[in-house]
Amino acid sequence: MKQSEFDVVVVGGGHAGSEAAAAAARMGGPVALVTLDASKIGVMSCNPAIGGLGKGHIVREIDALGGLMGKAADASGIQFRLLNRRKGPAVQGPRAQSDRSLYRGAIQAALNAYPNVTIIEAEVVDLLQADGAVSGVVLGNGSEVSCRSVVLTTGTFLGGVIHIGHENLSGGRMGEASVTRLASRLRDLGLRTGRLKTGTPPRLDGRTIAWEKLETQPGDDDPTFFSLSTREVAVPQISCGITHTNAQTHDIIRENLARSAMYGGNIEGTGPRYCPSIEDKVVRFADKDAHQVFLEPEGLKDHTVYPNGISTSLPSDVQLSYVRSIFGLEKAEILQPGYAIEYDFIDPRGLGSTLELPQIPGLFLAGQINGTTGYEEAAAQGLIAGVNAMCRAQDREGLILGRSDAYIGVMIDDLTTKGVTEPYRMFTSRAEYRLALRADNADQRLTPIGRDISLIGEDQWTAFSEKLGALNAAEHMLTAISVTPKEARALGIEVKEDGQRRDGIELLAFPGVTFEDLVPLSSDLEAVDADTRAQLARQALYHSYIERQKRDIEVLKRDANWAFPPDFDFEAVDGLSSELRAKLSFVRPETLAQAGRIEGMTPAATLLLLARLKSDIRRAS
Ligand code: FAD
Repeated sequence: MKQSEFDVVVVGGGHAGSEAAAAAARMGGPVALVTLDASKIGVMSCNPAIGGLGKGHIVREIDALGGLMGKAADASGIQFRLLNRRKGPAVQGPRAQSDRSLYRGAIQAALNAYPNVTIIEAEVVDLLQADGAVSGVVLGNGSEVSCRSVVLTTGTFLGGVIHIGHENLSGGRMGEASVTRLASRLRDLGLRTGRLKTGTPPRLDGRTIAWEKLETQPGDDDPTFFSLSTREVAVPQISCGITHTNAQTHDIIRENLARSAMYGGNIEGTGPRYCPSIEDKVVRFADKDAHQVFLEPEGLKDHTVYPNGISTSLPSDVQLSYVRSIFGLEKAEILQPGYAIEYDFIDPRGLGSTLELPQIPGLFLAGQINGTTGYEEAAAQGLIAGVNAMCRAQDREGLILGRSDAYIGVMIDDLTTKGVTEPYRMFTSRAEYRLALRADNADQRLTPIGRDISLIGEDQWTAFSEKLGALNAAEHMLTAISVTPKEARALGIEVKEDGQRRDGIELLAFPGVTFEDLVPLSSDLEAVDADTRAQLARQALYHSYIERQKRDIEVLKRDANWAFPPDFDFEAVDGLSSELRAKLSFVRPETLAQAGRIEGMTPAATLLLLARLKSDIRRAS
């Protein structure tokens, strides 16, 4: 048999492709990254920001598995903000606004540092197969590249059509050609495809914005980074401007709705409900007379400004007129009009949990091609697909993350079991185990898994081991504490007089109790550093819930195969919300495991079903 040139070929140099190539390369073995334009590797197609609610968790998980995105976002971060700062740590989301060109530079530098990654600038037009399995790719010039697995990460390029008002042109992104030959080959292979769409706002010339009139929003004084390895900001920090649409803006948009690509009936694909265009906002929230617009500079040496909140597919003249109706933008010039893009995706229900298509062994799919939207979702899938493509090439067992391991596991399970009806983006509410899946403990959850599969280098492993060592030592000191309610109250900790002794972790879980309050109980605690103190406080906050959740997960894993009889009455299960009862009655899952995967089901709700099943069986016997 002919020797393969590469173990893994990754098609596409976007967020999924970069992460896939890097992950495969970390595991050893030759990797090729084939992309249309090598200078565009790591380009942010839309907003110049990484992270946010749910998405920030994913970036931490990518970093915990040795990935590129967190480090690149830290290195290019011109504004860091921890979203939901006032809420509990489980739903806080780190976000960084990036200098677009520094981000791209950081990703390219990281990829170039892998000696076993070869970058090939070309279009992939076909797949080679041997005995049904993938054996390589065909390039636009007819040459062939052989390999043992392929990861396809073609983003918005497959059959991409750009819409601005009633004008449309073929394109994968503004100024870049769409990919048609591969798109039709994938359809020929019998893969189920569909159409989705997304949009982007016009880009403004920052020199024409009246910044002096606008409210500004600076970043946090104490930036929250994505990577465990980042210690300080790398580049100067900036503020964003804040302005609002108004009644006049909405009138202009309403009067021109028929000229919008999305409303004029030109686009068949479904768009992201959670990232609506300004046309969508004006129609759907007709009672609101203003929408907030963040004016985000795209870089330190770039005058381009990204007006976050007004993505559109209206014609250019209407864009200019509604932009100029906004306070502070009266003289704004548009550098590039906003547009909508429609593209093919492949139904992710055809994929396995390793992101391989069982129908075509050796072919892995990741990113926007699977119906997701967003850099973070794409990068995370790229990492998993890259690892599994290399595992296949090396005849090793693959990596599957479950819903209780990581947000990445939640996303892949959602995609492969439920599919998508609109572009999929991550939210904390999608994760039923979100108290355990926090951004702050991503490394504790995932770095050991990454190490086992050769994804984690020595430096990262040493830093993680030191952190874990410090945490374990301090936790041990806390569990060694044992105080009566009276002793606790003497320290000012409001504990019930129930006669029970409590350890330091239990005390730390009380509202308002800080690590510092406990230091008088053990002199060893004085030496504990600030990061370790903060992490233990976060862990203590959720300690009892998570212990209960772990027990629930164990019970559910054991009982996952319990089957519902055909006449099981989901409406009669006490304790479930009426919404869940309706969903269960509609879906009629066959087993407890399937019921647990239904959107909105929690471990507690699944346990209620189990209890009902058991009592029905007892009554029947
Ligand atoms: P991409 O970043 O699109 O990268 C695809 C890569 O594949 C490119 O490098 C391309 O050159 C390469 N490629 C494709 N076909 C071939 C081939 N045959 N041969 C070789 N190379 C190939 N996300 C949001 O979260 N919110 C938004 O509001 C939003 N709006 C967007 C608006 C627009 C107009 C666009 C274009 C994207 C938007 N996105 C948005 C999506 C975001 O950009 C993507 O989710 C993300 O970039 C997907 O990453 P990816 O790696 O899957 O694909």
